[in-house]
Amino acid sequence: MKKLQKRKKAARISDSEALLAKNAMTFCTTHDDLLARYAKTQEASAALQAFYAAPWIGRARRFLDWHTPLVREGMVIQEQRRHKPNQLIRAIGNCGSGVGSRIGGHMRVGGKWHRRLAQRHGVSLIVNEHRTSMTCPFCGSRIMHPKKKGGRLNLGTSACINGSCPSVKISMNTFGRDSLAATCIALRGFGQLVGHPTL
Ligand SMILES: [Zn+2]
Repeated sequence: MKKLQKRKKAARISDSEALLAKNAMTFCTTHDDLLARYAKTQEASAALQAFYAAPWIGRARRFLDWHTPLVREGMVIQEQRRHKPNQLIRAIGNCGSGVGSRIGGHMRVGGKWHRRLAQRHGVSLIVNEHRTSMTCPFCGSRIMHPKKKGGRLNLGTSACINGSCPSVKISMNTFGRDSLAATCIALRGFGQLVGHPTL
């Protein structure tokens, strides 16, 4: 919220807000008074609207919302409601839980909030996340990152270059890194469920 205060100061929004508070419609007594107050409000409202409708403030608000427990829980519940009761099974990567390592959870990154809420509100399956972000879900071979113009790797994109892969054959072998990892985790979770480890 510090950023908000700073920007408010820069745009002199506090002055406009004070003007609005001073000329609140609720306290008017006569007709002329009402008109005067209305004119003052109109004066300030343009600046206020421009400030509060800016894209960055929406982003900041969403970011703040996302950090409140109630909104997080709401997100998980909404996701659950999009499916019929007891039909959604979430496959969640085990990264950060310290499963199978001697570190025992000391190097946990990210957080456990999603896993905890998912377990509370539905069925969730903890899946081994190993190599899911570097494996092609169609053929199981290792993916490559394409190069950018300058010669640096584009790490946000993953492409399968295995000639016999079905995705290469139909020329749709490039995926987003995160969606690819999510697909792999889902596939592996399905494999765990039916007893057929596929990846
Ligand atoms: Zn492939």
